[in-house]
Amino acid sequence: MISGQNLIAGQWSAQGNEVFASINPRTKAESTVRFFNATDGEIDLAVRQAARAFKTMRLTTAAARAAFLESAADEIEKLGPALIEMADAETGLGQPRLEGERARTTHQLRLFANLLREGAFVEAIIDTAMPNRTPAPRPDIRRMLIPLGPVAAFGASNFPLAFSVGGGDTASAFAAGCPVIVKAHPGHPGTSELVARAILSAGEKHGLPPGFFSMIQGDSVRVGQTLVKHPQLEAVGFTGSLRGGRALFDTAARRPRPIPVFAEMGSLNPMVISPRALAVRGEDIAAGLVNSVTLGCGQFCTKPGLVFVVDDAVSQAFITRVAELMDQRQPGVLLNQAVLAHLSADVERTRATGHVSERTATDAVVLEGYSFPNTIFQTTAEQFIRDESLQNEHFGPVTLFVMCPTPDALFEAVDSLDGTLTATVHSEAEETGLTGELFSRLREKSGRLIWNSFPTGVEVVHAMQHGGPYPATTAPQTTSVGMTAIKRFMRPIAFQDLPDDLLPDALQNANPLNIWRIVDNQFTRDPIRP
Ligand code: NAP
Repeated sequence: MISGQNLIAGQWSAQGNEVFASINPRTKAESTVRFFNATDGEIDLAVRQAARAFKTMRLTTAAARAAFLESAADEIEKLGPALIEMADAETGLGQPRLEGERARTTHQLRLFANLLREGAFVEAIIDTAMPNRTPAPRPDIRRMLIPLGPVAAFGASNFPLAFSVGGGDTASAFAAGCPVIVKAHPGHPGTSELVARAILSAGEKHGLPPGFFSMIQGDSVRVGQTLVKHPQLEAVGFTGSLRGGRALFDTAARRPRPIPVFAEMGSLNPMVISPRALAVRGEDIAAGLVNSVTLGCGQFCTKPGLVFVVDDAVSQAFITRVAELMDQRQPGVLLNQAVLAHLSADVERTRATGHVSERTATDAVVLEGYSFPNTIFQTTAEQFIRDESLQNEHFGPVTLFVMCPTPDALFEAVDSLDGTLTATVHSEAEETGLTGELFSRLREKSGRLIWNSFPTGVEVVHAMQHGGPYPATTAPQTTSVGMTAIKRFMRPIAFQDLPDDLLPDALQNANPLNIWRIVDNQFTRDPIRP
């Protein structure tokens, strides 16, 4: 049974009188449960309790946090089919996709547990003293990462599990040793409540203080704004729109004591297809592109939203083929009414520029629930460079082809791009000059470069980078996927000339955690002989 309540530091709470329902995007039917927008008082209590919990959480060992993360994964799995059914009813994403997403979520929690047990994530660096150095002796300096404090995590609409209550931001903040207050996304509040229960059970099992975790509901910007303004909050993780991410970033910057906001926002994920690749593999690339644009109904931050080609007979035939495949595919269901409204408005704005033509037969499509026709636009490199509004994201099954008269015009169009999460090049192995030139330009714009593949599908591995220059994120030096995501919620501290027994274990001479460290410029696990 779903209560519709907020979880405030271990207690279920419904103090307010603003309520909302969840809506099935396939049928537009409302849930019978009413969800309570968190009140300012509940939000205040959640953050104050988190700050209190941090006093003990910051001292927990990495091994203890690892065991808790593994229990959280187990508890999420124990929710069984009820979790998938609830998430499907609230998002329309379908059972196979949601089962995959649950596996990704629990895998992510367990990978962070492994990272903690290995231990080197604290990045211990030690430069031992040189008392005899001239003209002045060198002090002993030891540096490592420590947790920041209470973190707010905003659940994403398009990943009800992997980027929501128990998702990447929560997992990486817990791994760092930070308490978490999740602002659940109003598109899937029942799913959020179920996952919150799983995390609460895991925390209770490991004796974490009550404030280690809170989950607040809300379909009003007041809830998120109040949370981010709270003086005891230390950082924010966000996945969602440029509009929302930027608003929260600005709020955090205006606080008397500003805090970092790690916002992963929309992205265009440009793809360049060389004339040779089109000639050799056009049919395969067309099929792959259509899959990538329509996967999850185009609601991925890594959906290819721009395709650059050199304008000739082969590329024109290619676009005709892509449009045919898009027309043949029944449009999927979007996540909610707000996504549909934004997408419709964004597409209308693009049409109204007068700088695009349409290649798909969108008028002929029969739509059910919150769906939108699969849509292909086409423009010229010249218009694309001149009209910045053509770089607005369409969060749905829509992509824009940019026709470039020459390879040089293509380079110029690529140079005019804003920051983006990914950039892809399809080319043939022998085109090393062209491919190298493109990657050399695209690396200045993007967080992940891809060759001869598609950007959708973000592996959760140590080496993953899911971020990029603004407007893809507000913090291009970080990632929200992969193990280095933990660094967002840690800060470096250096200890100068402290006695060994007052240093954290990671920095003590004996290296009691047996972790990899950099000692006097060498990677080593050896103890330091005083
Ligand atoms: P959203 O509107 O940005 O909302 C995400 C979360 O932020 C929600 O909890 C929302 O709460 C809160 N929020 C939004 N604006 C806020 C503000 N001004 N102050 C405080 N809190 C605020 O994202 P969405 O609901 O997913 O909307 C869909 C749009 O997001 C799409 O059009 C797409 O462009 C983008 N999107 C991008 C990604 C990505 O991975 N980059 C993922 C999903 C969505 P309330 O709803 O209660 O206001």
